[in-house]
Amino acid sequence: MSWNPDELNRRAAFHEAGHAVAAVAVGYRVRELWIDGDYSGHCGDDHSSQETTTPAGVYRMAIVALAGWIADAINAGRPELIDERRREILELICNAAAREIEEEDDEGGDALAVACLLADGRAGDPAELLADANDEAERIVREEWGTIEAVAAELLAAEPGTTPPTALALIG
Ligand SMILES: [Zn+2]
Repeated sequence: MSWNPDELNRRAAFHEAGHAVAAVAVGYRVRELWIDGDYSGHCGDDHSSQETTTPAGVYRMAIVALAGWIADAINAGRPELIDERRREILELICNAAAREIEEEDDEGGDALAVACLLADGRAGDPAELLADANDEAERIVREEWGTIEAVAAELLAAEPGTTPPTALALIG
């Protein structure tokens, strides 16, 4: 499927808004949030470096990463991508996240990040944790859909590469 630039921008906005709303839901504070004017953007939260050292922290980080492309899939009217991506991440985990996945957009980076977080088994059974984190991310995204739409609109209205305070205010 090919997308025109406006559609890609819109997808990026929902993707980053999904990360942001999930970050707040798991207890992080979002400091930076923007889209870049193509299918990329940035969501910077204040999770501590200790997060990768505990199962609960890995679980939270996985939820935040997964929520980005779940919001994108729902916005794009393609909820089947949620299961598709879960299979892809499982495959990456089985390969110990050793190989890069070939995607030029932010979705690929998130999938690899989740696989790397889960691959070494620090958080228990990776497949089980992935399934739980994916379910929780989807629950958050669907429950907070109104906020995600509002945040995405603020990101689309803002200067590329800059954090609109209005978007941060919406997510609290
Ligand atoms: Zn992302």
